[in-house]
Amino acid sequence: MSTAAEKFGSMVFDESVMKERLPKETFRQLQRTMKDGRSLDINIANVVANAMKDWAIEKGVTHYTHWFQPMTGITAEKHDSFISPDVDGKVIMEFSGKELVQGEPDASSFPSGGLRATFEARGYTAWDPTAYAFIKNGVLCIPTAFCSYSGHALDKKTPLLRSMQAINRQALRVVHLFGNEDVKSVKTTVGPEQEYFLVDKKYYEERKDLIYTGRTLFGAPAPKGQELEDHYFGTIKSRVQAYMKELNEELWKLGILAKTEHNEVAPAQHELAPIFTTTNIATDHNQLMMELMQRIAKKHDLVCLLHEKPFEGINGSGKHNNWSISTDTGINLLEPGDTPSENAQFLLFLCAVIKAVDEYQDLLRLSAASAGNDHRLGANEAPPAVISMFLGDELTEILKAIENEESYDGKEKELMRVGVHVLPKFPKDSTDRNRTSPFAFTGNKFEFRMLGSSASISGPNVILNTAVAEELKQFADILESADDFETALHDLIRDTIRDHKRIIFNGNGYDDAWLEEAEKRGLLNLRTTPDALPCFLHEKNVKLFTSHKVFSEEEMQSRYEIMMENYVKVLHIEALTMAEMAERDILPAVSGYAHSLTDTVLAKRSLGAEIDTSYEYSTVKKISSLTASAYEKLETLKRVASEAGTISDFEKEAFYYRDMVIPAMDALRGDMDLLETMTDTSVWPFPTYGKLLFGI
Ligand code: ADP
Ligand code: MG
Repeated sequence: MSTAAEKFGSMVFDESVMKERLPKETFRQLQRTMKDGRSLDINIANVVANAMKDWAIEKGVTHYTHWFQPMTGITAEKHDSFISPDVDGKVIMEFSGKELVQGEPDASSFPSGGLRATFEARGYTAWDPTAYAFIKNGVLCIPTAFCSYSGHALDKKTPLLRSMQAINRQALRVVHLFGNEDVKSVKTTVGPEQEYFLVDKKYYEERKDLIYTGRTLFGAPAPKGQELEDHYFGTIKSRVQAYMKELNEELWKLGILAKTEHNEVAPAQHELAPIFTTTNIATDHNQLMMELMQRIAKKHDLVCLLHEKPFEGINGSGKHNNWSISTDTGINLLEPGDTPSENAQFLLFLCAVIKAVDEYQDLLRLSAASAGNDHRLGANEAPPAVISMFLGDELTEILKAIENEESYDGKEKELMRVGVHVLPKFPKDSTDRNRTSPFAFTGNKFEFRMLGSSASISGPNVILNTAVAEELKQFADILESADDFETALHDLIRDTIRDHKRIIFNGNGYDDAWLEEAEKRGLLNLRTTPDALPCFLHEKNVKLFTSHKVFSEEEMQSRYEIMMENYVKVLHIEALTMAEMAERDILPAVSGYAHSLTDTVLAKRSLGAEIDTSYEYSTVKKISSLTASAYEKLETLKRVASEAGTISDFEKEAFYYRDMVIPAMDALRGDMDLLETMTDTSVWPFPTYGKLLFGI
């Protein structure tokens, strides 16, 4: 295989492979299952499983796995081989329909937030026939959903699929009202842009903080940061290029159309953007992408950091979730059209998103909340913790004209009447260059920019799909019973703009003035993870998810617990790592250094009083007092970290970490980073920011 085109999708059991390898009738029935979500007949499953096995064995595969996305946020797999004993003591390679359709992982150790009592500790995985099987690392992977025996979702995929059904149901009602009877299904699409850092593996291995927590817990800034925006250092460049080439090729084999590219913002930081696809596939692909990014980096003696804030003082990493809605007939419902009717439909979908983002700000905010992302959101970094929407000046003007029943002063001097007038054209390029908005309209899609780089994109998309489904439902309820469709539509759009325009903000989201303005508008400012997460269980949100059958109340409760506990666990590990590095690495090193300086002072003095010892003497003095201060802060950190462990209420514990443990960590770091700046580099116990970021 040589060309990129030949490689593309070569490791995916996709439609073309199925067509080639399955009997016509089986292929037809499988297609129906995949498109309409019907359950799969076991006889068909047997034929499909056998064809999959033969295809995989030809590619040197001996094992298969049900590949799933538990609540840990990463993917899980348990490998089984195709080998079965045969009658004559030999073995045969087997893979049955039953094994394809359902698996039983011994998964009692995945987080379930109390959903799986121990007597039913095993969940089961069920094939998600809307996603293709693929070969990864020599193993046939069957994409699956993961549920408990009582039917509760234990993973991140099941609710996503449910939310896609919810928006499909409601969006179909709306497009049919506009006379688009030929539309049979509506799906949301996503293209997630992924940011990441690369560091040299040999330096990574010398840093316990990177190994245990994914971020640097100590580190004085290098003399150079990102201010010159000249990103990238010669020595590592060819390795990075080789890495990107291999990564692209491996992703293509899995049918992921990705394009890695340099990012100019922070040193050692990069971005990878795939071509968008259906949301559940995009979610699978993003998980695979993160896994491959990390695995392939090691082959190039690099380590890929997906943490939201690996380094203090330079930009962190996020993920931009580009989201849109399209029909099976190929219409992007968030793209302004050419006719009055198309425009009216676009405006109605736009209004559904505006209303959804306003009414469910809290959910969107919490969907991006994590200990790691708290270093970005609301911490003077892109974007702020307040949710607002950017629509661009032209579209905002149009909405204003509709709201006030005025003429739009753009290209057309006409009264804006929805469904009657053609929207004035606004060039796509003028719609977005605002990089500070958390939720920006970019011409034919929305870009949700709050996501952390390491998170699964499932959560935010479950919320977007479900919230917009709810608004479409309300719209369809009104419009279906209207006597005069045109008038009802116009009024609905006008009223929605009037009631929810507070969420629209086209200015600079980093500006402090915006935070004041947002407060006046009554928008939420949920600064940290423990502020945001409890909103998940607010009554309106429980109603939203249960009424669209996306989560049951028990599932919501368990997810809330898992998210809060995750926050606590991450901070707990960070606190312990910090204490260990301070106590066993940094303090002994600086104390030893102070000793050697003291020796020098004494040695010099023995030569006579005229020898100057000012540098050594004053450095020992500074180091000694800072060491004493750091020691005290270390003791405080150890005390609050162990105090946290005695709190049995998980909510109280999360707030305790935020209010007591994080400040103790920050205080300790402050002293240690100062100590770093006055200590001989050769005795500093781990590589500096200069080494990590610039290789020096
Ligand atoms: P940029 O944000 O740098 O201007 P683009 O606008 O070209 O780049 O696209 C960014 C991402 O948005 C890409 O991953 C792309 O695939 C995705 N995207 C484009 N159109 C859609 C759509 N209709 N639905 C979802 N994602 C989309
Ligand atoms: Mg973008």
